[in-house]
Amino acid sequence: MAFSPLHAVSHYRGRFAPSPSGPLHNGSLLAAMASYLDARAHQGQWLLRIEDIDSPRVQPYASRYIMQQLVTLGMYCDEEPVWQSHRLDLYQRVVDQLRERNLIYGCACTRQELPPEGAYPGTCSQGLPEGRQPRSWRLRVPLGTERFEDRWCGPQAQNVAGEVGDFIIRRADGIWAYQLVVVIDDGEQGITDIVRGEDLLESTARQRVLARLLGYPLPRVMHVPLMRDEMGRKLSKQNHAAAMDLTQPLQTLNLAWQGLGFEALPATSTTAFWAAAIPRWASRFQISPVSQVNAA
Ligand code: GLU
Repeated sequence: MAFSPLHAVSHYRGRFAPSPSGPLHNGSLLAAMASYLDARAHQGQWLLRIEDIDSPRVQPYASRYIMQQLVTLGMYCDEEPVWQSHRLDLYQRVVDQLRERNLIYGCACTRQELPPEGAYPGTCSQGLPEGRQPRSWRLRVPLGTERFEDRWCGPQAQNVAGEVGDFIIRRADGIWAYQLVVVIDDGEQGITDIVRGEDLLESTARQRVLARLLGYPLPRVMHVPLMRDEMGRKLSKQNHAAAMDLTQPLQTLNLAWQGLGFEALPATSTTAFWAAAIPRWASRFQISPVSQVNAA
C-alpha cells in the first residue's frame, strides 16, 4: 500500500483499525473518515492496523481490499500497516507480565453457567472449582469508577468492576480478546487519539483500566455516530450493509461526511474533497493548525 509520511508535524498519532471480516461498507467508512480527518486536522499521523486476531472471522483478501478501498478514496496512511496476526509474541509477553503480577486468572465458567446479564460474579477469581479446567483467562479489575471525556459524546463514567467485572483477555477458543490486543497495540504504537464508532464507547472504560495496569498513556477518545439504515439499524457486515460504491468515490465520501453531520461538499476530486473537509472538521472541533496533544 502506498503511504506518505508528509503530514506529521505534531505529536498526534491516530489510527483506523478495521477487522478484515469483509470489505469496508458505508458504515465502517464513517469511522475511517472521522479518524482520518482528525489526524489530518491535527497535522498528525494516521496509521492503519489490520485487526485480524479473530481468525475465524477473517475473510481472505479482505485486508488487501480494504487498503485498496482507502487508496481509492484518497486516504493514505503514514506508516506501513500493522497486522495483529504478526504480533502474537508481543501479546504473549505482555500477558506473561500480567500473570507474574497475579493480575489474570484462569476461568472455567461456561456461558450457560453465568448470569445472562450483569457483571462476572467472580466465581473463579480465588481459584478454579474442584475438578475444573481453565477455559478462558480474565483480568482482575480494580475497584473504582473510570471517568473520561469523550470528544463527541461528552463526560463518561463506568464502574467496570461493578458493571462488567473481571473481563476476558483470552477466549475459550484460545484467541486473545479484542479488549486486550487493542490496548497493547494502541500503547505500543504510541496512539494519542482514538476516533472510532460509538458502538465501542462502552468498551473504553475497560480499555482504560487495562492500559493503566500496563503503564500505557491513556489516549484521548472520540466516538462518532454510526450510520443507520432506514429502519434505524446500525449498518454492519452482519446485516449486509450496503457495500461502498467505488465507481463514485465522491458520492461515497459525501455519504459518510453527511453521516457525520456536515453538508455535502461539491468537490470534483478526492483530493479536493479532503482539502475542503479537513478545515471544516478542524473548525468544528476547534483544532488549531498544530495543536499539542496531551494524553489524559
Ligand atoms: N477492529 C474493530 C472493529 O472493526 C475496531 C477497533 C477499534 O477501533 O478500537 O470494529
